[in-house]
Amino acid sequence: MKRILISGGAGFIGSHLCERLLNEGNDIICLDNYFTGNKNNILHLIGHPHFELVRHDVTTPYYAEVDEIFNLACPASPIHYQYNGIKTIKTSVMGAINMLGLAKRTRAKILQASTSEVYGDPSIHPQTEDYWGNVNPIGIRSCYDEGKRCAESLFMNYHHQNDVRIKIIRIFNTYGPKMHPHDGRVVSNFIVQALNNEDITIYGDGSQTRSFQYVDDLVEGMIRMMNAPDEFIGPVNIGNPGEFTILQLAEMVIRLTGSSSKLIYMPLPQDDPIQRQPDISLAKEKLDWMPEVRLEEGLTKTIAYFKELLKA
Ligand code: NAD
Ligand code: UDP
Repeated sequence: MKRILISGGAGFIGSHLCERLLNEGNDIICLDNYFTGNKNNILHLIGHPHFELVRHDVTTPYYAEVDEIFNLACPASPIHYQYNGIKTIKTSVMGAINMLGLAKRTRAKILQASTSEVYGDPSIHPQTEDYWGNVNPIGIRSCYDEGKRCAESLFMNYHHQNDVRIKIIRIFNTYGPKMHPHDGRVVSNFIVQALNNEDITIYGDGSQTRSFQYVDDLVEGMIRMMNAPDEFIGPVNIGNPGEFTILQLAEMVIRLTGSSSKLIYMPLPQDDPIQRQPDISLAKEKLDWMPEVRLEEGLTKTIAYFKELLKA
């Protein structure tokens, strides 16, 4: 039995990871300050003898004996990470330092949940891991993008200077049950709007693209990366290469919900990337991983979740 620390464990992705690793017979410490996470996400795990829930902010050090650390603590949706940009940077940077310090002391393996945002508004398409990105360092997304880029640098430096066993994954847009209904991300926004027969808010003309990954595929990729040989540290893209315009997504959500919602157009936020699609050749080669859930199938499951949530 491994003792595994998951920072940000009460969040959308973290709660799925907690559940999966607990079911596989591990001892889980779920660390969260509940900024964007929610106890409801892990309510069904509370009381399990091998699940420990700790209210803690990763900007301060944490001590425990652990074998593995998944570092997910960080608000991930634009409205939440822009709410207090300074805190977002502190969470990414000081959180990484504190978790890496813990990994160094305990000789634990540590995985960083990095992001496709390190590529910014990319001029290379699809994005490969050797692309350095096109990030505006002073724009409204920079607290998140630069925080995550700095965290990657910290991981590399702890690895080279202190032999810390690191893993870096770059996660592309992920969706699924347990997303926060009001965090402003496109999938949750569109589904909630469609189920309420409200207008669907398209930012810009809707021609910008994203590649959407179902959460179960991501969790599988995260675990494969953690279990890969120590020599493979990444960074590695984990995402679904199926690329859709935002307009296509809106039309699919309307069709799958049978909604009478209409599309309305609103201004495109500053520095909103025009296109995004992962090249996952490295993940296929090194982890024998590729996503299995098609967008329509994943959306159907996510819509069912939100239907129940909105009823409650
Ligand atoms: P989320 O907001 O649901 O989860 C983040 C969790 O971290 C929340 O539970 C929140 O309360 C917690 N947290 C925030 N600041 C903290 C702090 N200072 N101390 C302790 N806990 C703190 O978001 P998510 O979508 O589950 O994202 C999880 C991770 O994956 C994040 O690091 C995010 O950057 C990364 N990621 C997500 C996506 C995606 O599409 N969802 C894409 C790329 C990267
Ligand atoms: N978006 C939109 N309507 C919404 C929410 C988002 O058109 O109600 C767009 C947003 O401008 C972006 C894309 O959908 O182009 C994805 O946005 P999200 O915030 O989910 O993720 P990110 O921009 O971080 O990839």
